[in-house]
Amino acid sequence: MYGIVTIDGPAGSGKSTAARLLARRLGYCYLDTGAMYRAATLKALRRGVDFADEESLAALVRTTEFRLEERAEQIRIFVDGAEVTDEIRSREVTSKVYIFAELRRVREEMVPKQRALARKAATVADGRDMGTVVFPDAPHKFFVDGCAEVRARRRHREHLERGDKLSYEQVLEEVRVRDERDRNRKVSPLRIADGAQVLDTTDLGVEGVVDRMLESLRKAAPGAASGACPPAKSPAEREENGEGAR
Ligand code: C5P
Repeated sequence: MYGIVTIDGPAGSGKSTAARLLARRLGYCYLDTGAMYRAATLKALRRGVDFADEESLAALVRTTEFRLEERAEQIRIFVDGAEVTDEIRSREVTSKVYIFAELRRVREEMVPKQRALARKAATVADGRDMGTVVFPDAPHKFFVDGCAEVRARRRHREHLERGDKLSYEQVLEEVRVRDERDRNRKVSPLRIADGAQVLDTTDLGVEGVVDRMLESLRKAAPGAASGACPPAKSPAEREENGEGAR
């Protein structure tokens, strides 16, 4: 087993797709921490919590149950038992999530939840601070990058598929703003973690990046067995085991 594998990188770099593919190839669980920040942002918006009220937002995170499940090759996210997989990709959430994620108290509540989820099984964790803050001792770290134009094109395609009528220029501007904020914020900024291998999807493509990751993992730990992400349990089974999440 390779233990926790961390993947950090900017918006639209292809890191989430790479992380999901890598997790599948290794038989690991996939922890999409961006989806957790998005899901909590959605809950805050629905409840009308003031985004200037850091303590209330932190309390909201503390009392939220997050669950991630892979079904039909798609990662689904549930908040307090209700699925929000599609809703967390809305424009409204995308335009607010980075403001929410900048708050120190919010992150203080989110990080233990992410660690708890990763403790349950061998995990590929993707986000902005996986290798630097959440899992600094992870034995295998990657940083996935890509040029802003390619990343914006990827995100633009995703928006169009969802029926959002946005121009490429608008998406490029949004990607740039979000990157700038994620890289320059005071708390847990997007950085290349010590010891992380940097891979770029601009030239390699997502599949190429995953191949490189597998190559590096095998080189670092030849013969390591693959993991076994437990299949998603039904709510009844979870209740029986007294489990809250995953
Ligand atoms: O990965 P994704 O683009 O869905 O993440 C949404 C936002 O959540 C990011 O722009 C970032 O502001 C925040 N985030 C974070 N730390 C993480 C994962 C995501 O701050 N580990």
